[in-house]
Amino acid sequence: MGGIQDNSLILLSPQSVLHEIFGYEQFRGPQAAIVDQVIAGGDALVLMPTGGGKSLCYQIPAIARQRAGHGVAIVVSPLIALMHDQVGALHEAGVEAEFLNSTLSGEQANAVEKRMLRGDVTLVYAAPERLTTPRFLALLDSLYERGKLSLFAIDEAHCVSQWGHDFRPEYRALTVLHERYAAVPRIALTATADAITREDIVERLQLEKARRFISSFDRPNIGYTIVEKKDATTQLLRFIEREHEGEAGIVYCQSRKRVEEIAQTLSRQGIKALPYHAGLDADVRQANQDRFLRDEGVVMVATIAFGMGIDKPDVRFVAHLDMPKNIEGYYQETGRAGRDGLPAAAWMTYGLQDVVNQRRMIDESPAGEDFKQVMRGKLDALLALAEATDCRRVRLLGYFGEILPAAGPSQGGHGPLGGQGEPAVPTGGARYSCGNCDNCISPPEIWDGTDAARKLLSTIYRVQQQSGISFGAGHVMDILRGKKTEKVAQFRHDQLSTFGIGAGFSEPQLRGVLRQLIATGALAVDGQAFNTLKLTDGSRAVLKGETPVQLRESVSLPADARRRKGGAKATPPAVAAGLTHEGQARFAALKAWRAEVARAHNLPAYVIFHDATLAAIAALAPRSLVDLQGISGLGSKKLEAYGGEVLRVVAGA
Ligand code: ADP
Ligand code: ZN
Repeated sequence: MGGIQDNSLILLSPQSVLHEIFGYEQFRGPQAAIVDQVIAGGDALVLMPTGGGKSLCYQIPAIARQRAGHGVAIVVSPLIALMHDQVGALHEAGVEAEFLNSTLSGEQANAVEKRMLRGDVTLVYAAPERLTTPRFLALLDSLYERGKLSLFAIDEAHCVSQWGHDFRPEYRALTVLHERYAAVPRIALTATADAITREDIVERLQLEKARRFISSFDRPNIGYTIVEKKDATTQLLRFIEREHEGEAGIVYCQSRKRVEEIAQTLSRQGIKALPYHAGLDADVRQANQDRFLRDEGVVMVATIAFGMGIDKPDVRFVAHLDMPKNIEGYYQETGRAGRDGLPAAAWMTYGLQDVVNQRRMIDESPAGEDFKQVMRGKLDALLALAEATDCRRVRLLGYFGEILPAAGPSQGGHGPLGGQGEPAVPTGGARYSCGNCDNCISPPEIWDGTDAARKLLSTIYRVQQQSGISFGAGHVMDILRGKKTEKVAQFRHDQLSTFGIGAGFSEPQLRGVLRQLIATGALAVDGQAFNTLKLTDGSRAVLKGETPVQLRESVSLPADARRRKGGAKATPPAVAAGLTHEGQARFAALKAWRAEVARAHNLPAYVIFHDATLAAIAALAPRSLVDLQGISGLGSKKLEAYGGEVLRVVAGA
């Protein structure tokens, strides 16, 4: 058994556990304080964004407390699919861990229970329904009586609340932990909790005395880009080919049909793309998910059914081909990018049709009017984000009640910002810049669409007056721009006083105006009648010129202009970008070697080593084990297990 398992009761400092076992130099943000709190036997409530590093907050106390003779830690996790990989990752680091869930046979479960009683396991992951069975409680009782329960970690703690979006009734039964094992410290963790959910967690889990650790929800390594939808499929292809070739990513689409189409199109272009949606057979879904987790550079094209519990750290981009319903969904989905703290992209295309579809889905839903009103408000906030001409990050965090520090992007962030330049410090009304969203990197041209908006609305008004029926966006724009189409001739709309008075506007400009009018409720879309446009109570103020309409200039594919310079071939993956030619070769050789090891261990590659660790090794070109020491992500167990092989691979590359 590895060095840390000999129960020699030597007290380990959290810092040395971090360094020796996980191979990391420093704690991130509040990790150190959380770890101290739990090691000392206190309770903690931890709110940290995805990728913030929640796991170490209970894994390090579990290791330290076991070393001090306090026995085994129990980790409650709802995500059975993940337990295997999490336990595998701990084994790789030399930590004794097990899981207990429905995938184990009775015999296997017995063996785990025996190990717990013998005290030779540091962490046990268990599904909540397992935890509250009489059998398991009896096991816990016997450990507790001997003082051998070191802590309870309750992961995804928002599942206890019906205000959270993943309510799980089994979580309610977890109150038993406090009632029955009052002396055992508890740590509850979540990445998603607004104020109501947070209070609900505290109450339901009786965490009133817990110290609260609430981190910024900023994800500084994620760059946000929202582009106007033109030909979405082509835009997506270019985005992947130019900025993320060979990298893992997720593409979210609204419908199953679209998922299938996009996955096929990408595959035809040589991208390793797989579909994932609720209409696929369970085994196909599972197989595709496994490939996404285990192979390199797979792009998952999915409906929102995909993602919960995916903790793959090297997802380099999340693309939305259709607009989600609200900012909560958008932030959660984009949050799956870049958990490893390296540069990652959140990219979305959105257009008039998205606005129309989302509005219609709300209007046609069977929900009550109050509920619809809330949904409309949430949609509006997302539309405002999409139309924004200022910093997307400020808007996103503002939605969650967080105000970015005035002096630049959030401090204590983790990971590089991708070298996109220094953030500007706002002085006296200057524009704030996070340095890592499209609007901050290249501030959009803004044009005054008030005149165009008035002309559009009055055209809609006159058409309705003259013909007694409403028309769709395309026709209205044709009239305004003075196009003599068949439909125009048929309805004699060239006779209208507004015919051709907007000839100076381009179609994208007018689309932009329509989108914003619909987004702000100054125009309605009738989904029952071929998506025709109708005036609303809100139209009047715009018609009168009382409400100005400010729009971003419709630039063609802004995502392109950013990175692509000189038309070179695909850029190397961001982690390896700084490497020399030889360094690239070493990196490639190390990745190939890692893939073999991962296959042999039946684990995802990132569990063996993160890309960043391999890139650091490739850059260093180590010749001896001593050279390897101190590389981030290379703990003592991994150094012992793989150091020699790594040196051979490096020497041979
Ligand atoms: P969360 O559960 O909050 O989404 P994880 O615990 O999965 O995040 O951590 C995200 C990634 O960051 C993991 O790959 C983890 O190894 C890494 N990590 C966590 N803490 C540190 C640290 N102090 N230094 C370096 N890497 C860290
Ligand atoms: Zn910004």
